[in-house]
Parts: sequence; C-alpha cells; structure tokens
Amino acid sequence: MADDLQNQIEQLKKRIEELEKQVKGYQQKEEQQPVAASGPAVRSNAFSLLEKMRQSLNDLKVRFKETKQKKPVRPKRTTVKIQKKEPVKKTEFRPRPKPTIAIVSLTCCEGCQVAILDLGERFLEVAGQVKIGDFAFLEDRAEPPNYDIVFVEGAPITKENILRLKDLRARSKFLVALGACAALGGIAEIKNYQDKNERMRYVYKNFEGINNPDIKPLSFYVKVDFEIPGCPINKEEFLKVTQQLLAGVPPRIPQRPVCYECQMKQNKCLLQAGLPCLGPVILGGCGAPCPSNAYPCDGCRGPIKNANPDKLNKQLVAQGYSQKEIDLITQRFGMEDKIYPETPALPLKNNLKKNLKK
Ligand code: SF4
Ligand code: SF4
Ligand code: SF4
Repeated sequence: MADDLQNQIEQLKKRIEELEKQVKGYQQKEEQQPVAASGPAVRSNAFSLLEKMRQSLNDLKVRFKETKQKKPVRPKRTTVKIQKKEPVKKTEFRPRPKPTIAIVSLTCCEGCQVAILDLGERFLEVAGQVKIGDFAFLEDRAEPPNYDIVFVEGAPITKENILRLKDLRARSKFLVALGACAALGGIAEIKNYQDKNERMRYVYKNFEGINNPDIKPLSFYVKVDFEIPGCPINKEEFLKVTQQLLAGVPPRIPQRPVCYECQMKQNKCLLQAGLPCLGPVILGGCGAPCPSNAYPCDGCRGPIKNANPDKLNKQLVAQGYSQKEIDLITQRFGMEDKIYPETPALPLKNNLKKNLKK
C-alpha cells in the first residue's frame, strides 16, 4: 500500500513540474506577445489543473504519511484447535491361555481312563485345546499349582486318596466325578452293605492291620461340580461334557431314564418279560447297551432325579424276586445309598421291606 502511494506521488510530482513549466511558458508568451483570445482561458485551465494536482499531491502525501505511521495490521491469529488424538492403545495380542486340566485316578480299575483314550484322535483334538497337568496314562510330569478342570475317577478309599482328593479340590475351579466309582462309590461299595471283614477274607488270608474303611463317593469328602456317570463312562458323553466346559457352557445330561433310549431302539422290554431291569429308574445317556443285548440294566449310571424306586421294587417283588436279590442289584454300583439315603429314606425302605414280608 505505501509503495503504491509513493509511486503515485512521484508521478504526480513529475506531472506537476511539467504543468508548472507549461504555465510558466504561457506566462512568458503573454509577456512577449499580445494576448490571444484563448490565451487567458488556456492558462487559467492549466493553472486550475495545476492547483488540483497540487492538492492531490498533498492528499497523497498525507495518506502516505498516515500509511507509514500505521502499524502494520497483523492478520488476526486464528487459533485452530487441533483435537488431541486419542493415544492409540497398544493391543498386544495375547492368546487366551489354555485351560489346565488333569485326569486323576483314585482307587479303581482305571477303565474310565481307558474309555477316554478309546476316543483316539478325537481325544488328541481335545488335548490340543488344553494343557494337561496330570494324566497318569500319558506321562508322569510335575504338576502345575492349579487346575481349571479336574476329572477324578475312582473312589477315595485310602487316606492318601482322600488327601489327594481334598488337595485337588482346593486347587481346582471345576471338579468332575468320572464314572460310577467316583459318583456312587462303585463296585467297591458293595462291601458297605455286607459284612466287610467277611468280604476281606475272600481276598486276604490275613487281613489284620489292613485298613478297611467304608467306601464313599467323592461327594462325601468334597464338593463335586459335575458327575459323568457310568461304569465305564460313555466316551461320547465325556467328549461332549469336556467340549462344553471348554466353551464355558454349563454341561447338562438330560434327565431321561434308560427306558427312553431302550424304547427308541425298539427293544423288547426285559422287565415286562420278567427280568430284573432297573431301566425305569436309571439315568439314560448310555444308549441302553445292556437291554439292547438282552441283558437287564444294572444301574451303573445311578438313579434319575425324582426316580420312584419303591414302585419298581414292588413290581420286582411281585414278579417273584426276593428283596435280597433286588438289593444285590441296586448295591452293585453303590447306588443303594443314593436311592435310599440314610435319613429319612432308609427307614422308609425298611418299612417297605417289612410290608413286603407280611
Ligand atoms: S467306574 Fe467302572 S470303569 Fe470306571 S474306574 Fe470305576 S470300575 Fe472302572
Ligand atoms: S428293557 Fe429295561 S430299559 Fe428297556 S424298556 Fe424294559 S425296563 Fe426299560
Ligand atoms: S443300560 Fe444300565 S447298566 Fe447298562 S450301561 Fe446303561 S445304565 Fe449302565
């Protein structure tokens, strides 16, 4: 802006100088020659133009001065708010740690572990999803401090068994009883219902000093979170329950009696044919292999919830079986104390026995 004014001033000065010379020239001519008719008018125009230009020059000078004095106006600072970027969270990829499991045996035939291994490659698939802390059948290795899931087969018979069970419980989030021995007491529990010292003589010539405790299921000593029944367990059921647990899904076994599966297979009913089949009161899920092979169900999977054993007992007595014969069947897998817990069902059963004897 100041530079423009300066240029205009310079040009105007030159123009004024020229005009002043012109006016001077007119004045000299007027002094030397007689005045022409148009002379004074031309001089007057030039003179008034000269005055205007001088006036313009003064204006320009004033403006120039003002412009110089004016502080240059700085353009207003516009503050652009730069939004702070959210710090990018470093998301480290941490694969979920594999759950640690154990498959532990107490006193038993270890047939349930064999059933697991019988899964073959499908067991290896499960094994790939977990860290196996203890599985005596595979390898003996140092135990981790804690387990996510512990499967326990066998009955806690010896003191060492009981201590081991309690220790496992304290170190595990979820404890599964595996098979009839763990869930019911199993075959070993037969001696609970008989003279246990007498039974010892069948095995040991001299049994003095041998610990001979009553046989109890795991749930007698510790909290059991889930039971996979059977003698041995159904390997497919084990696979399903394990996959559900690994997926965080609460496992569930449908409460249907063995008869349900037996009838689905269109088997001829053994009970109706007069055989002592416990199918109506036993938890299904095994696929009813025994009645499918013409062998009555012995109840290895334990009683179904809300079973009515008294009704079946009456029916078997009516079919000609003695109470002792019936008891021997219900005692086979340690189920009797589950059907008739000591209070108040045992007196109830005793009453039933008395009634039947009358
Ligand atoms: S439940 Fe049967 S197969 Fe399993 S460990 Fe006990 S006796 Fe053996
Ligand atoms: S055979 Fe046994 S399991 Fe099958 S339907 Fe008859 S009672 Fe039930
Ligand atoms: S049919 Fe009875 S005895 Fe046979 S596997 Fe099933 S529950 Fe056990």
